[in-house]
Amino acid sequence: MLDTKEPGFRENVDLMFRRAVSHLDLSPGLAEKIQVCNATYTVRFGVRLRGKIETFVGYRSVHSEHMEPVKGGIRYAPEVNQNEVEALAALMTYKCALVETPFGGSKGGLCIDPRQYEEHELEQITRRFAYELAKRDLIHPAQNVPAPDMGTGEREMAWIADQYARMNTTDINARACVTGKPLNSGGIKGRVEATGRGVQYALREFFRHPEDVALAHLSGSLAGKRIIVQGLGNVGYHAAKFLREEDDTLITAIIERDGALVNPAGLDPDAVRAWIVQTGGVKGYPEAEYIENGRSVLEAECDILVPAALEGVININNADRIKAPLIIEAANGPITASADEILREKGVVIIPDLYANAGGVTVSYFEWVKNLSHIRFGRMQRRNEEAHALLLVSELERLSSDEKLGWQLQPDFKRRYLQGADELQLVRSGLDDTMRTAYQNISEEWHRRDDVTDLRTAAFIVAIERVAASYRAKGL
Ligand code: GLU
Repeated sequence: MLDTKEPGFRENVDLMFRRAVSHLDLSPGLAEKIQVCNATYTVRFGVRLRGKIETFVGYRSVHSEHMEPVKGGIRYAPEVNQNEVEALAALMTYKCALVETPFGGSKGGLCIDPRQYEEHELEQITRRFAYELAKRDLIHPAQNVPAPDMGTGEREMAWIADQYARMNTTDINARACVTGKPLNSGGIKGRVEATGRGVQYALREFFRHPEDVALAHLSGSLAGKRIIVQGLGNVGYHAAKFLREEDDTLITAIIERDGALVNPAGLDPDAVRAWIVQTGGVKGYPEAEYIENGRSVLEAECDILVPAALEGVININNADRIKAPLIIEAANGPITASADEILREKGVVIIPDLYANAGGVTVSYFEWVKNLSHIRFGRMQRRNEEAHALLLVSELERLSSDEKLGWQLQPDFKRRYLQGADELQLVRSGLDDTMRTAYQNISEEWHRRDDVTDLRTAAFIVAIERVAASYRAKGL
């Protein structure tokens, strides 16, 4: 993925980290301690498939244990390697600190192309991988809590949770060993959409700061903005869908594995996704121009570019041709350190990954808390809140029946006001609050320091200061 002239993914994250550290006055050696990856476990295990034993290679990397459990997804992809997993684990440390989820950073990966296997084979492989990790406490409700990432989803998390429960039959908190589970295995409403939803909330918050919008050479609100999305996986699809349906933006291009679709009048992510499911790719989709060299569309004219696929897609080779004035990193590490520098010099504003895609881990946190408290959010309060609301509504109804006052309630007021918040509403509210607060912290840092000229450095500074405070509190 990365050009050989450029450093690897982990070195890229380290470069960005060190850039931020140069603005801080940390005690000697502390930056080094925070930066290093504590441990990476490599496992090679065999699974009997189709009459022979196949060997798989997997990793679980723990970047920082300043808080436990450590948290981060498990990726299934053929090109997974130690460097990548360690970079992603480091990003998890900073991401968790930034959005104040009480976790250290971790990440896992399995070298596999999941499309080459049947469902029952994937289950066998996942259970075996989970077994190898769980027996070393690399899956554990109090120590290490995985989640979905590229190539994995609810289904794999359910297998992992079940495998852990089988190995720990008396652990009452077993379900908290992994997040991103389906609802019927201890999941939480709103987790699947969470990362995409977080991207939407991040953009909304950005556009609530007109001075920041102006720095991106844009103006006005999100409505009407032209957006290019790369990758229509879980994150890209949900971000594009919500931004189109709820914020009146135009998805003018979608870049996928087999090419890109362009339509200046706007694409419908649901229709494109259905086409991909039906045909295996975007080629032939009726309501758009098809461009075989999908990557070239990253360089097309737009207001906002949303890379939501792989790392390193904006690099030294194409950075100077990028026209988007605003980029939001829905993927982890889509912009290399060299590209970041080129884009900064061009005045492009980048909403960085450690903030932009933190919606997933934020809702994972809610799921973990739900599992540990063994009760659905809102279960105790909902009807009580409704009863309180009813008191007020009844009184308003009584007053509005008095013709002398001439009051009238809006037709839908009663229904809307009486509705107590259910789990999904609470999750969205918690996520929205988290994304707003984190952006405000970053933006404040960006404007407070004359020497900090970009959101990424500001975000790293906020995160590193929190991790450092945590180490200091431990006496390190
Ligand atoms: N894999 C996701 C990420 O990169 C989610 C991690 C989690 O929920 O723990 O942030």
